Amino acid sequence: MKEIASMHHVTFSYELAEEEPPDVQSKALDDVSFTLYEGEWLAVVGHNGSGKSTLAKLLIGLLFPSSGEVNLFLEHLTEDNLWETRSRMGIVFQNPDNQFVGSTVQDDVAFALENNGVPHEVMVKRVHEALEQVKMTDYINHEPHHLSGGQKQRVGIAGALALQPELLILDEATSMLDPQGREEVIEIVKKLRSEIGLTVLSITHDLEEVLLADRVLVMNEGKVLMTGTPEEIFQKGAELESIGLDLPFALRVSEFLREADVDIQGNHMTEEELVNELWTFHFSK
Ligand code: ADP
Ligand code: MG
Repeated sequence: MKEIASMHHVTFSYELAEEEPPDVQSKALDDVSFTLYEGEWLAVVGHNGSGKSTLAKLLIGLLFPSSGEVNLFLEHLTEDNLWETRSRMGIVFQNPDNQFVGSTVQDDVAFALENNGVPHEVMVKRVHEALEQVKMTDYINHEPHHLSGGQKQRVGIAGALALQPELLILDEATSMLDPQGREEVIEIVKKLRSEIGLTVLSITHDLEEVLLADRVLVMNEGKVLMTGTPEEIFQKGAELESIGLDLPFALRVSEFLREADVDIQGNHMTEEELVNELWTFHFSK
């Protein structure tokens, strides 16, 4: 498996105001190590303030570690290779209204390409392809601020895709969306993964998104608390709940039923799995 990004013992502290005594200097990231492989979908979860956005900012070189090393595309990230490295990644942030620079959808998606000096014909082609990938071609001449939240984030993703990134980072890109908008964005990410095998790092609170990931990194107080597949992570229900994370609805219902002496075998992640067991259970009694 080819490595796309990794952190090795990364620690990062924001500068605190001078009146803060040195011993309260808290680390936003504390000895964080992980590797992200090509084609992988890694979900990063953790309650507010656990260091998730700091992790994303270190990956795109908006911040540099206080100690430790960040590697991208098998190279140590430095101020010298920052711009070249950043051009190989796309990032979409939380608030869909803060990401627009163009007056039309087309201009907006073209913006970063224009900045990178991409020739006009190539640009037009790439903008069309990117909008097609997020199913927003019909809105090419629309004004971004008239779109729904889900459509805005899809345009945001198109802007990132037009750069033909090798890594797409989503920092709570679905958290301000209604359920339909969230569904639209998740569908697009699923499609990109199956069609072009894009590597995705998604920071999220959304359990559906977590269940779709290949691997999960759980952050707590700046540290990596655990990593594993979604199934492995959610087996540690009590530990996750103790750091303020939710468990999937079906898993909570399974546990509740077991506590009520219903003979449920599986630890079901999805409602469909749970319903299937309840169904066979019903007929076998
Ligand atoms: P998350 O994205 O998981 O909510 P962050 O990475 O934003 O967490 O924050 C991690 C820690 O760093 C928190 O304690 C937060 O208060 C602190 N922090 C984040 N951004 C800044 C900043 N610009 N200046 C000072 N402290 C910050
Ligand atoms: Mg954040």
